[in-house]
Amino acid sequence: MRILSGTIIAKQILSSLQQQIANLPGRKPGLAFIRVGDDPSSLVYIRKKQKQCQEVGILSFDTELPESTTQEELCHVIKEYNNTPFVDGILVQLPLPAHLDPLSIIETIDPRKDVDGFHPMNMGKLLLGQKGGIIPCTPAGIHHLLIESQVPLAGKHVVIVGRSAIVGKPLAALLVQKAPTCNATVTIVHSQSLQLPQLCKEADVLIAAMGCAKYITSSFVKPGAVVIDVGINKVIQEGIAHLVGDVDFASTAPLCQAITPVPGGVGPMTIAYLLKNTLECYETNIRKT
Ligand code: NAD
Repeated sequence: MRILSGTIIAKQILSSLQQQIANLPGRKPGLAFIRVGDDPSSLVYIRKKQKQCQEVGILSFDTELPESTTQEELCHVIKEYNNTPFVDGILVQLPLPAHLDPLSIIETIDPRKDVDGFHPMNMGKLLLGQKGGIIPCTPAGIHHLLIESQVPLAGKHVVIVGRSAIVGKPLAALLVQKAPTCNATVTIVHSQSLQLPQLCKEADVLIAAMGCAKYITSSFVKPGAVVIDVGINKVIQEGIAHLVGDVDFASTAPLCQAITPVPGGVGPMTIAYLLKNTLECYETNIRKT
């Protein structure tokens, strides 16, 4: 059984980005972070991303707005960043407070600055297999991790547990593409799927993105399968908080050909792709000006 370390692969991406950014002739890429409200996890995620930005040479800009911010006020901030030439990427940290509509907020972001790749324009390009769009960070990171780990996908059966718009659906659209590094046969299963364990057990590559701590146990996994654990769940054990995935590592790892750990698997790949997407947006922005 192999452990697929996202930490190691992400480091390679980050060091290549650092070099590319150091060699840029003019200004450095800029990424704007927008946070609404006081969700402590969102703050931790943003600080982590900003630290990595600093390490590779991306400038970060920070807007923190109160919980009571209206849709119009938030859209106004986004439009200001859309029109700021030295800001190449805009990230609105999700989840947003319940009174805000995330879809229409994401639609306000200039698609060329949509580093998360959540804008309908970028999602549409991904679905159509059209070049020039921005691919959401977690799916792009998982794809890179599989390629780098030499896990064959062409003709293989990939089962994705979870149909969210940020992981499950774009990941399925990516892995099914007609491209030498994709060409997978993809099944998406979700909370309403019948016979979930049997469907998962048919997977050559099983990807768990459901947000249920240790839900996937050995009875869901075909011996010799590759298992990618996207889940990040906080659990309290003996009074201490731990992060665990959607996969019960202890029972499934002995069955697998390869498996990602949590933490240290998909998480670092997602951040690496956020920075990679920022550099891509920068290149588009520089060409435009
Ligand atoms: P979400 O809540 O938007 O979607 C979860 C999906 O899982 C839904 O489609 C739902 O139908 C499905 N699901 C839930 N319970 C299920 C069950 N019992 N059986 C089958 N399907 C079930 O979540 P999300 O934003 O896609 O995130 C999923 C997990 O991945 C979370 O733990 C999140 O923290 C994590 N995540 C990690 C990264 C990373 O970089 N590692 C990035 C994004 C999300």
